[in-house]
Amino acid sequence: MKLTVLADNNTYIDMYYLGEPSLSFYIEDGKDRILFDTGYSDVFMKNARKMKIDLSEVNKVVISHGHNDHNGGLKYLLKKYNDFDLISHPSSFEYKEDENGLYIGSPLDIDEIRERSHVKLSRKPKKISDHLIFLGEIEVSQDFEPRYPIGKRIGYKKKEDDYLLDDSAIVYKGKQGLFIITGCSHSGICNIIEYAKKVCGDDRITGVIGGFHLFDVDERLKKTIEYFKENRIRNLYPCHCVSLNAKIELGKKMKINEVGVGLKLEIE
Ligand SMILES: [Zn+2]
Ligand SMILES: [Zn+2]
Repeated sequence: MKLTVLADNNTYIDMYYLGEPSLSFYIEDGKDRILFDTGYSDVFMKNARKMKIDLSEVNKVVISHGHNDHNGGLKYLLKKYNDFDLISHPSSFEYKEDENGLYIGSPLDIDEIRERSHVKLSRKPKKISDHLIFLGEIEVSQDFEPRYPIGKRIGYKKKEDDYLLDDSAIVYKGKQGLFIITGCSHSGICNIIEYAKKVCGDDRITGVIGGFHLFDVDERLKKTIEYFKENRIRNLYPCHCVSLNAKIELGKKMKINEVGVGLKLEIE
């Protein structure tokens, strides 16, 4: 599997791609060309063009959850390309707003997306290519990672706290074990890893890339580092929603890798 970072908060020195506080990865697995998230704007498309990645070959788009720093680019993608499978959790295209009432959900409603792509929503794990599985709704297994609300969603006719049940991830089943690819990890990075182990029946974690949603140097971060160590996760690629302080703390305890737009990984 090959993974290329098309959009992230960080850019590398001397590589003139565009950054934005969002996430988008381009993944090649066998004959499948997969987009995992589409960033906030058309930045991922501009970067792909500069990298000579042909997005017309994309046959699957996975949206990690319903926030617009992960699905905002769909508006631009669907203007140019169509006919791909779109895989996500059923709640990813609901109305979502932040604490101040600002809309932070999908730029298009699900019917508009259905007109131009094959929408395949699933709460259950779903195979998306030879070696990749979309995890669907993540089980909470770690007591230090309970679900907590961010903003509001429209529930049954009224606004309610949004516990982001839609927040999911994908997992690559490799020869050496599992490589986890996350969006924002609102469901808890360790809950996601633990659920991937359960779904795949494999306890070996070769690496993790994505937003880990870690900001404060607190008890949660301490327990997260303990979990990473217990699971002997060597290849950590924290990006997007991981603060500098959290990265410094992670880096004191274990090796972490810098992620930026243009990073390419090959995972066996
Ligand atoms: Zn989010
Ligand atoms: Zn995010």
